[in-house]
Amino acid sequence: MTTTPDLEGLVATLTDLLGERGVSIDLGTRERASVDGCGLSPILSAKLPLGLADVVAYPTTAEQIAEVVEAAVKHGVSITPRGKGTGNYGQGIPMHGGLVLDTSRARSIVEIGDGYVTADAGAVMAQIENRAWAENQQLLLYPSTAQSTLGGFLSGGSGGTGSIVHGVIVGGPFVKSLDVVHATGGGLIHVEGADAQEYLHNYGTAGIIARATVSLEPLQPWRAFYASFDDFHDAFTALNEISNGITPAPRLVSADLPTLADALPNDEAIIKGKASLRVIVDDAAVAQASDIVAAHGGTVTAVREGAQEVMKLSMISYNHAIEWLQRSHPDTYFHVEVGGAALLERIDEVHTVYPGAMLHAEGQKGRPIGMLAAEYVSEEEMLAGLDRLAALGVTTHNPHQWYVDVRVEETRALKAETDPAGLLNPGKLPAPVEGDVDASNGLMTGGAR
Ligand SMILES: Cc1cc2nc3c(=O)[nH]c(=O)nc-3n(C[C@H](O)[C@H](O)[C@H](O)COP(=O)(O)OP(=O)(O)OC[C@H]3O[C@@H](n4cnc5c(N)ncnc54)[C@H](O)[C@@H]3O)c2cc1C
Repeated sequence: MTTTPDLEGLVATLTDLLGERGVSIDLGTRERASVDGCGLSPILSAKLPLGLADVVAYPTTAEQIAEVVEAAVKHGVSITPRGKGTGNYGQGIPMHGGLVLDTSRARSIVEIGDGYVTADAGAVMAQIENRAWAENQQLLLYPSTAQSTLGGFLSGGSGGTGSIVHGVIVGGPFVKSLDVVHATGGGLIHVEGADAQEYLHNYGTAGIIARATVSLEPLQPWRAFYASFDDFHDAFTALNEISNGITPAPRLVSADLPTLADALPNDEAIIKGKASLRVIVDDAAVAQASDIVAAHGGTVTAVREGAQEVMKLSMISYNHAIEWLQRSHPDTYFHVEVGGAALLERIDEVHTVYPGAMLHAEGQKGRPIGMLAAEYVSEEEMLAGLDRLAALGVTTHNPHQWYVDVRVEETRALKAETDPAGLLNPGKLPAPVEGDVDASNGLMTGGAR
């Protein structure tokens, strides 16, 4: 392994490995590979560009992903893995340049069996779900960015459709096993159970996921259920009751204030000027959901069947509601991530924390979560608002930063073994002590909030 990056040598090795079409040093290609969905954050957008890849590689199989990593390590070049680049914290930006390892061509669904699917890192979540439906099964979880990759979702995402029942990726039953690649050689390394958990949601900083086996469950007869309310408070109460009180449990429950709902794609079931409630509900629970809507003064506006209708509801949930709001009102709204029972109990106070604040709510067992959209404020005011939300009992997450902020110490310990030279997605894992500067191991400097 060299200590000085040998880019020319790497490009030559990658070209031998992947052919001319599998490697690019074209400026436009490198620029496109060096941004992700962080445009959702005006605070991050103002800091761009944050890094530029020197070279982009496109392996087509899990085995080639391992070979590309091995080549980059041999030439001392840092590696930022990339799926579809929909991560919204800038965690896919190559802060130190080097190689962007684009997995999106390694998209084979290798095997589907009873209760599991094995696929290469670049397989698209929506395609895996479609294949599962064809086998009378369904994914336990998939994100609202259903076009994102399996490897990117496991490394950068949290949850989405299915989280009401199965929780989030980390600590839940979703991931069965992974084939990961370390920056120390050894090809594909198979890990299961708790060992596999160590590689989730840490942005590829301790190992690159080349292939994964995730859980499926029997397909249910899902319906896309829409309702409308005059008052958001009623929609929010109905969201909570449907999330916690119907059987079988729903797969997704989203609610929006009128301004948010009006920004969603035009649909006669989302009535302009009204609060909107949308549920992916089992056919056997449609009557229960309808009763809850009626009890809170709402109106059921549509109940639709079919995979596409169900996917449509997924794709206007979570951060997508914020993305649609920003499209309708350019340069106006940012958001923070919020959760907890206090959202329900103190929603009017929550709405005073930032100017023009409004909640996009997602139902979960026991406590709702959501995205609190509001009119632009400075980074300092955004952080002060997080403190005000915490004082109200609301849990928060700041989506305007790119560092790993869960299980940081565990990831650091793993990385010490799997990536001693700090080549894997450098700049994303906070250094042990605030203000530490340690360019040699790829840890970011400064503290993390
Ligand atoms: C509008 C919008 C809506 C969203 N909704 C959701 C949602 O509902 N649920 C949710 O969880 N997230 C959501 N996200 C965040 C994001 O879409 C997910 O994290 C997504 O699944 C990432 O997949 P990707 O293929 O685009 O990965 P990328 O964005 O390319 O990568 C994500 C991170 O993982 C790393 N990475 C990529 N591939 C690998 C690999 N094979 N091995 C190791 N590391 C890798 C990257 O370096 C990066 O740090 C949303 C984002 C936006 C902009």
